[in-house]
Amino acid sequence: MTEQKATNITWHEGTVTRSERQQNLGQKGCTLWLTGLSGSGKSTIAMALEQVLLQRGKHAYCMDGDNIRHGRNKNLGFSAEDRAENIRRIGEVAKLFADAGIIAITSFISPYRADRELVRELNKEADLPFIEVYVDAPLAVAEERDPKGLYKKARAGEIKGFTGIDDPYEEPDQPELHIRTDQLSVAQAVQQLLDSLEQHQLLAP
Ligand code: ADP
Repeated sequence: MTEQKATNITWHEGTVTRSERQQNLGQKGCTLWLTGLSGSGKSTIAMALEQVLLQRGKHAYCMDGDNIRHGRNKNLGFSAEDRAENIRRIGEVAKLFADAGIIAITSFISPYRADRELVRELNKEADLPFIEVYVDAPLAVAEERDPKGLYKKARAGEIKGFTGIDDPYEEPDQPELHIRTDQLSVAQAVQQLLDSLEQHQLLAP
């Protein structure tokens, strides 16, 4: 766990309950944590899901790896330590969204199992639903897609420590959902996510 630096701080309990927020919004907040190789389809699926949810009157918000690194986490790189802090901060931000009643959809490679487990714990402690989604395409498929040309650069040695090439991707042991994007269309993947949200009874207060 991360060290608590500040002392003499006290948690101030609000008077609005989580249940009141859920009633207001007609849904429950949660984190949908998408993990997988670069190019596996996380952002594509996340944004398609966000669109469908909004069309249904649900409140969802996507957090995307590169976007967050432009702002909130611009002071972090790709060392193991920085990757861990990157994921911890995203986990905390998603937790706030979930507590506010929003369906937080995060789209980060998040290659290390321990980092993902830490985020799962953060949410568990706060009694907030956490759905780990393994967005799975074999490396060869992700590399063939190479939507940002990053695998090409990594193979040429222009990017060091690239997940799947010279940095490991640790597959989830027991994700709540496993989506094979080399076998399913984007629409089918989105449907699986919607089914999961329904199963967890998150689309109603
Ligand atoms: P990531 O966010 O995991 O790095 P992206 O979503 O940015 O991946 O890129 C995935 C690429 O693969 C996109 O160009 C997308 O159009 C393509 N693609 C092809 N088939 C699928 C599928 N079934 N699901 C998701 N993406 C797919």
